[in-house]
Amino acid sequence: MSNTYDDNNIFAKILRGEIPCHKIYEDDKCLVFLDIFPVNPGHFLVIPKARAVTLSELDEEIAGHLFQVGHRLSKALRSSGLRCEGVNFWVSDGSAAGQEVPHVHLHVIPRWAGDGFGWKIGPTNRQALPPAELVRLAELLRAQ
Ligand code: 5GP
Repeated sequence: MSNTYDDNNIFAKILRGEIPCHKIYEDDKCLVFLDIFPVNPGHFLVIPKARAVTLSELDEEIAGHLFQVGHRLSKALRSSGLRCEGVNFWVSDGSAAGQEVPHVHLHVIPRWAGDGFGWKIGPTNRQALPPAELVRLAELLRAQ
């Protein structure tokens, strides 16, 4: 499914310098800045400079670059002195997946046990599937 890119989304404005951000890193392919409503202090976002709403609209190389930069900066996060006993890498890819800002972004979030953040598991989630259904699902995805 293709998405129409909105040039007035907040991250497009940050990329154009129309809205300030607390920049951590920048190169020709991406910008990294602090999340304004952090899950925990040090939570940052890695965004591509390319106009894209979802990961599937990005070149594989650019998508990989976002994770490479996130990986590198997560090491900086761990050695920064900020509280960080674990890290969540998180992409809400599409509004149905919880994406609020319609420009691709990788969240990198410092975590610790008992910090209060977590996924909600609903009554129909995390159900064990019968083996035959697992076989069918794996075949379906392999075929694509
Ligand atoms: P999403 O829910 O789309 O995965 O995440 C969007 C993130 O963008 C949220 O964590 C939110 O706090 C952050 N955010 C929204 N508006 C701004 C802004 O103006 N500046 C910055 N730095 N972060 C923002």
